[in-house]
Amino acid sequence: MRKYKPVELPLKDVPSNFAEEHATCPNCESRTPGVIGRLGLRLVFRCDRCRVRFHRPTASVQLL
Ligand SMILES: [Zn+2]
Repeated sequence: MRKYKPVELPLKDVPSNFAEEHATCPNCESRTPGVIGRLGLRLVFRCDRCRVRFHRPTASVQLL
């Protein structure tokens, strides 16, 4: 009866200087996806149009 996928890796907060980053959705190529958090050093974005979560492969966040 679960609606949601049981395994969702917990996202960490993004430093404020990255909070306004945007990326292009790999699915629909929309440019609106914004940062929703980070996984390790990778910024995680979410597309509102197709509800895809993705991370930018080359992005790394300096947390020090
Ligand atoms: Zn999309």
